[in-house]
Amino acid sequence: MAEKKRLLQILDLIKILPRNNCKECGFTTCMAFATHVLREGAKPELCPYWQPQDLAFIKKSLKDQGNDSAYPDHLFSARKFVQGKIKDYDFSQVADRIGVGLESLPDGEGSCLIINLLEQHFRVTKYEIKSLENVEHDLWDHVLLYNYVAENGGRPLIGEWVPMESLPGSLAKRKVFVTGCEEKIAAAYSGNPERLRASLKVLKADFFTIDSNAEVAAVFYPLPKIPFQILFWDAAIEDGFPAQVKILFDATVLDYLDIESLVFLGEKCAERLSKLA
Ligand code: SF4
Repeated sequence: MAEKKRLLQILDLIKILPRNNCKECGFTTCMAFATHVLREGAKPELCPYWQPQDLAFIKKSLKDQGNDSAYPDHLFSARKFVQGKIKDYDFSQVADRIGVGLESLPDGEGSCLIINLLEQHFRVTKYEIKSLENVEHDLWDHVLLYNYVAENGGRPLIGEWVPMESLPGSLAKRKVFVTGCEEKIAAAYSGNPERLRASLKVLKADFFTIDSNAEVAAVFYPLPKIPFQILFWDAAIEDGFPAQVKILFDATVLDYLDIESLVFLGEKCAERLSKLA
């Protein structure tokens, strides 16, 4: 009978990493890096300090045991890139600009930010992101939160509401936003505007009346300086009209988040609201 190969363990990686916790890979420690390589498919190449033969061995072993990454390669690079952008930031100056909390790290290791993303709170250091409520989160969320920090805020909100199509650079993103956010929310709440109101209350929305026939009109903040105005028109079955949702942004929104991350934030909102439906 062929001998069954032993699967790679975290300790196997630790033994051949330099163990100097230099953070160049974007993780706080070699241990955290090894864990992410084995459990989340982080690319081994993110550490530049492997001996070439060790790297080749690890890559082959991962391939043989089918350790496919749950994430595309570019996402790890994006995380590392945006972490590089914030590495010299003084969080005590950033916190106010982007409307988030500030806490000191133990042992005088600087500070971290407490960010409210859709009423779930995350503790963000320059190397790690943790949920304070132990909610599931992933690498996409990390890149979103780091991008929000990296933008470092901008003009104060001006209360002028604009649609996505009026934002510079939105042409290629508009359709993704409509299908991944607006249409998804509309479908989840078709025939049930009351339920949408209840779900928006969970997100601490403020409701208002508007000179249109929208059944629901509200403003909520998926991120502290990024308000979404949501308008919902219920389906008119007899006329053949499906339910519709329109999201508007404060005209300063791109001071706080790039367009790609904004689309992702819209998709996150739709996902959260669909779960609450
Ligand atoms: S770059 Fe390599 S040596 Fe540095 S912390 Fe990451 S895994 Fe450890």
